[in-house]
Amino acid sequence: MKLSVKGCRGSIPVASKSKQHFGGNTSCYTVETSDHLFVIDAGTGFKNVDLNSHSECFVLISHFHHDHIQGLPFNKSLFSLNRPVTFVNDLVSEMKFKETLELCFSPPYFPINLFSNLSNIEFCLSEKLINQADKNFDLKTIELNHPGGSIGYRIDHQNKSITCLCDNEFHQEQLNTLLEFVENSDIVLWDGMFTDAELVNKKGWGHSSIEQAIDFFSEAKIKNLLISHHDPSRTDKELNQLKSKLPSGVFLAYEGLELEI
Ligand SMILES: [Zn+2]
Ligand SMILES: [Zn+2]
Repeated sequence: MKLSVKGCRGSIPVASKSKQHFGGNTSCYTVETSDHLFVIDAGTGFKNVDLNSHSECFVLISHFHHDHIQGLPFNKSLFSLNRPVTFVNDLVSEMKFKETLELCFSPPYFPINLFSNLSNIEFCLSEKLINQADKNFDLKTIELNHPGGSIGYRIDHQNKSITCLCDNEFHQEQLNTLLEFVENSDIVLWDGMFTDAELVNKKGWGHSSIEQAIDFFSEAKIKNLLISHHDPSRTDKELNQLKSKLPSGVFLAYEGLELEI
């Protein structure tokens, strides 16, 4: 399995020399197996994903905040799909899922009606993938704590596992459920938008801290934890300072990072 970080910035994309290393694109990650391409979220990093690269492709949407869908219409391969691509969500029904994305990408919010210009797109809930008889992967989902809701995804393939827990505002009551959900994962993506000091004034904003990531890692039976959804104001210098305090096994995501497990 391979995880690639296409965008790890939270809230809004940024373009600045001081933020080049960690990157400016918003949430988008790919998980590849030999046959399948899973894309987690379609933030601006989504523009750099080739949706035709594998025999099957699933785009797993965590939620509909702008930073997680903004790149959707700018992916060139979306307009030349050589087989169906399935968009997956668990927050709303299949019909509402399509309607929500259509609303975001049609006038007055977008110049054209995107989906009327696309073919080979399907919309479903995760249970459709989970119940596929011939699959050689396991997909699990979990409800996260985020305004309006958000869905975490876990993908297992040949005894390897990658889990994404973005966006989430960690609450102590979630601990046991999250520990169980991530158990034996090789990589867990964690929403580390804030520090503990910043979180004091950001209660209810829907994000967790870097220190909470470290605490969670110390309790979880996982190999690595990758902190992502970086605050858009955070510079490379600041992120590198935070990185220097991380324990072994905990890393900061950066755009362009590829991890084979
Ligand atoms: Zn977000
Ligand atoms: Zn969000």
